[in-house]
Amino acid sequence: MNDNQKRNIPISIPSMGIEEWEALKAPIESGWITQGPKVKEFETLFAKRHQVKHALAVSNCTTALHLALLACGVQPGDEVLVPAFTWVSTANAVVYCNAKPVLVDVDPLTFNIKLDEIAAKITSKTKAIIPVHLFGLCADIDYIKKYFPQLKIVEDGACAAGSALNGKPAGSLGDVGCFSFHPRKSVTTGEGGMLTTNDDAIAAHLDRLRNHGASISEEQRHHGPKPYILPAFEDVGYNYRMTDLQGALGVVQLGKLDQFIAERNEWAAYYTNKLSDLPWLRTPLVAEGYAHGWQSYVTFIDESKAPMKRNDIMEFLQQRGIATRPGTHAVHMLGVYANMLNVKPNDFPGAFACDQYSMSIPLHNKMVKADYDYIIDALHSLNG
Ligand SMILES: *Cc1c(COP(=O)(O)O)cnc(C)c1O
Repeated sequence: MNDNQKRNIPISIPSMGIEEWEALKAPIESGWITQGPKVKEFETLFAKRHQVKHALAVSNCTTALHLALLACGVQPGDEVLVPAFTWVSTANAVVYCNAKPVLVDVDPLTFNIKLDEIAAKITSKTKAIIPVHLFGLCADIDYIKKYFPQLKIVEDGACAAGSALNGKPAGSLGDVGCFSFHPRKSVTTGEGGMLTTNDDAIAAHLDRLRNHGASISEEQRHHGPKPYILPAFEDVGYNYRMTDLQGALGVVQLGKLDQFIAERNEWAAYYTNKLSDLPWLRTPLVAEGYAHGWQSYVTFIDESKAPMKRNDIMEFLQQRGIATRPGTHAVHMLGVYANMLNVKPNDFPGAFACDQYSMSIPLHNKMVKADYDYIIDALHSLNG
């Protein structure tokens, strides 16, 4: 392959344009740049799109998870079920509450929590479960609700803006939903997160917790009749607010979400079709009833049939300018949790396999057909 044929395809780049630039003007010109009217507008649109009563913006999905657990009543010493293959912050949020993350293995076919392993992990201390909608594919919340009605359900929908299960959007399926607007997700505000719920009391609690425990927001106070009276503080809260600069970006990005997903859907189908002849590469499974959000397109390498090991395939592609990543990491194999929970790699064989053999290939809204064809050709050329 000569140099002018070589392409350079990042794993992901945000899709932003002139509309995002222009949206930043209003908060900059008004001078109201922390949580204010733009955050409110973003929340209203997000709630509508995800068919929930309340959406509350926060600084990122990790802080969303922390507040969701607190608002669900997770106390020190409680146990919270967490899939063993997810971004580390799903488990970290449990530790922030001085509760214990109890890992549950995942199914390598979906990369999501293994439903038939949940029951064995439940004790008298189990308060909640955090099913993760990994890479934009919903976990089966309907099943969890039906068989484990005693558990509070916090959806980690970091990757799942716009995803759905049986016609119901992510974030409307459990007690509280948590979303991320990190640049690796399909819509972004730089950093940013969102909480969703249909429960009025939980929403009010979350609203206080994200804003130092204050009974009303700064915007309400400044624009109310007595701005000089400080609010009441009845909870130990946090400053997990989103800025209005981010809110302004979020309004524009959310307006593009459905178009982004439609395009990703089309290219995911293209990949799946063109890669189906490679016996060593399993393309993502999307069962009946699932609307995938395609935050990432994650394949699974069968090393017993593959021409080389997963990491060598990643290196081969890297040399050709194609970025890849493992889907994510196995929490039980990270030093911090291996030590804290005293677990071994083979305690969670599904998560171990996903950690070792998953491979995310580029799928984002700045790619063109020639990029997809280049990647498809590179994968085929591996056969020699
Ligand atoms: C990205 C991600 C997070 C963290 O989101 P931040 O907004 O970066 O805090 C949490 N869980 C999952 C599954 C993620 O993919």
